[in-house]
Amino acid sequence: MISVFGSANMDLVAYVAKAPGLGETVTGRAFRTVPGGKGANQAVAAARAGGRVVFVGAVGEDAFGPELRGALAGAGVDVTHLRTVPGPSGIAHIVVEDSGANSIIVVPGANGTLTGPGEAGAAAIAAAGALLVQLELPMEAVIAAARCADTPVILTPAPAVPLPAELLDAVDLIVPNEHEATAITGHDDPRRALCALLERVPEAVVTLGARGVLYGGRETTPGGPLHVPAFPVTAVDTTAAGDTFVGALAVARAEGGEPAAALRFASAAAALSVQREGATTSMPHRAAIDAFLA
Ligand code: ATP
Repeated sequence: MISVFGSANMDLVAYVAKAPGLGETVTGRAFRTVPGGKGANQAVAAARAGGRVVFVGAVGEDAFGPELRGALAGAGVDVTHLRTVPGPSGIAHIVVEDSGANSIIVVPGANGTLTGPGEAGAAAIAAAGALLVQLELPMEAVIAAARCADTPVILTPAPAVPLPAELLDAVDLIVPNEHEATAITGHDDPRRALCALLERVPEAVVTLGARGVLYGGRETTPGGPLHVPAFPVTAVDTTAAGDTFVGALAVARAEGGEPAAALRFASAAAALSVQREGATTSMPHRAAIDAFLA
């Protein structure tokens, strides 16, 4: 079982020729609501990749709450520990211009009310074989969750914020993209950033988009980082490639694979996802990942 302690947001996406300036009103050409949030996305990715997944988090009492719960449950994620709390659910208000540029306002809502996983959530985390966390919940809540896991804790440090030692002490594997790796370590060079990360956590993966990933482990790669290239595919939408990668990586590691094999599995899942539009809609099922690798 893989536990995920993280955000569930409803993405409210408006498509418009040009985003409005301050004080301006424009007419958009389309609108849709899409369940998202990094926590929920990683949970769906892990479930699709073949993991048994329990999600610990919160939604609000508004109409989005049941929708977010239903989307996770529909993907096969255990939502027993997804609490409904007073007030609104988390939302991401996204404006996408015809140019492809976007602007996003995240309002944490229910996610922002969490101070920890709660007693039952903590028990579910302790009983699972791995914990995935991101930084879309209050830091104190993430630290509390990471501390109740005896099993490997995998941190996606997004959005990039300063990382307290209390959190890093509880993390076994950190998976930033290259921008986050630079923000955390101050190094532009991913190899240097990886080395700096390994001074703080036992294992690290820096994802490099179409250039693949760099992996290092204090114990597992004493000779230096391992580069796993991305699969050469034609990307149409890289949204949530990172979340797909992390969810699949957690599954492969829970199944006991060697680091290189687990990274290849996760890279295959992400390569499949970038060939389709959307976030969770693009996440591949296990059979597709296995077929791609065969
Ligand atoms: P996002 O924020 O969109 O979720 P990210 O910035 O966290 O993504 P990336 O480093 O862009 O993460 O991508 C994660 C992984 O997805 C890469 O390491 C790679 O394995 C795969 N990937 C991303 N882009 C491509 C691509 N164009 N072709 C093949 N694989 C890709």
